[in-house]
Amino acid sequence: MRETITLKDAHNYMLNELGMDMGLVTDILIDDRLKILPEQFCGKVCVHKDNLEEVIKRKKMIKFNTKNRSKDNFSTTLRKNILNYFKENDLSTTANMGMIFKTIVMISIYVVPFILLVTLNPNMWVSIGLVILMGLGIAGTGMCVMHDAVHGAYSKKKWVNKILGGTLYLLGCNTLNWKIQHNILHHTYTNISEHDEDVDTKGPIRLHKDVPLKKIHKYQYVHAFFFYGLMTLSKMYNDFPQLIKYNKMGLTKKQKVKPKQELIKMIIRKIAYLSIVIGLPLIVSDYTILEVIVGFLLMHWVAGFILSVIFQLAHVVEGAQQTTPPEDGNMENEFAVHQLLTTSDFGRDSKLLSWLVGGLNFQIEHHLFPHICHIHYKKLSYIVEETAKQYNLPYNTKKTFFSALNSHIKQLKILGNT
Ligand SMILES: [Zn+2]
Repeated sequence: MRETITLKDAHNYMLNELGMDMGLVTDILIDDRLKILPEQFCGKVCVHKDNLEEVIKRKKMIKFNTKNRSKDNFSTTLRKNILNYFKENDLSTTANMGMIFKTIVMISIYVVPFILLVTLNPNMWVSIGLVILMGLGIAGTGMCVMHDAVHGAYSKKKWVNKILGGTLYLLGCNTLNWKIQHNILHHTYTNISEHDEDVDTKGPIRLHKDVPLKKIHKYQYVHAFFFYGLMTLSKMYNDFPQLIKYNKMGLTKKQKVKPKQELIKMIIRKIAYLSIVIGLPLIVSDYTILEVIVGFLLMHWVAGFILSVIFQLAHVVEGAQQTTPPEDGNMENEFAVHQLLTTSDFGRDSKLLSWLVGGLNFQIEHHLFPHICHIHYKKLSYIVEETAKQYNLPYNTKKTFFSALNSHIKQLKILGNT
């Protein structure tokens, strides 16, 4: 018979015996494999000890290899080369006038069609066109403005990054959640199962080899693209359980934010967002509730589809490795090498693509230097590629957007069947 212990004992065992971080203990205990809900933290529920130990092993802190750190290893040399580039060309690592122009264009693509819809009440086909345009504006603002700003790469002034990072509220999502999920978990534990939420179980889509394979995944290379369109809509709801989870893990506090206050702010922001995007057209225009809701869903579908596809082409393609967390948590490679191995670039020579997707076709450079604004990534890509070659490391790149898309579809087929 398997040994069971109370939650309270499990908690103390992990804290005292294993010296684990408080946030991590909470994370492990609410892990769905243990079937414990956050509200069951009263100590009455029992857990199986072997179950607990298995999850502890799996969730152990990931540590990147620092043993080979020296003056002439890959990351030190690369950092030196990149710094030299900025020094020699007397460049700032943050935004330039071109970025400011792009910011105005992208936000306008979202806001102007909305004003036209509400004030002019055009016919159905024009309305559909404007709603699609709004979806493109959301995706463009997310990729070209918000992403840089939340990374602190847009400006050296914190307040500028804060305001522009707040453009995420334009699509009803929470900046703090994004910061934790993307900046911390995804950027640190890229493509490591159980740690990088971007490749965790996503309903009927399997993006990582460690996620259990189900029948529903067989034709995911077809249906995934429909579900990609639901990304921003699901995020709008998922922000709630996600923030509650981050609060319990202690990740919110690490961001110097009060958990309860953040939850209240998030509720107010979401109500304000829905009141403007759904409520305003209902009050001041002649659209019916059904028309407004269909328009709202279509706008989000377009935005979610573009955002998901662009993000997937960096990590779920041929050449980008998927990693299982090692039992002892010690990774084989240093951080910079791990980023090189798990990420891929695409369409380097297309100026238009790079402009439209906010440099997200240069994810290798972005993962290595997230605090540098994306306008510099193309130039940096040659330096990174050259340095990688020098150290006999792979540099994953796909020539065009469509070759990367084709590679992603192939990966979806493989992950759907093996
Ligand atoms: Zn990023």
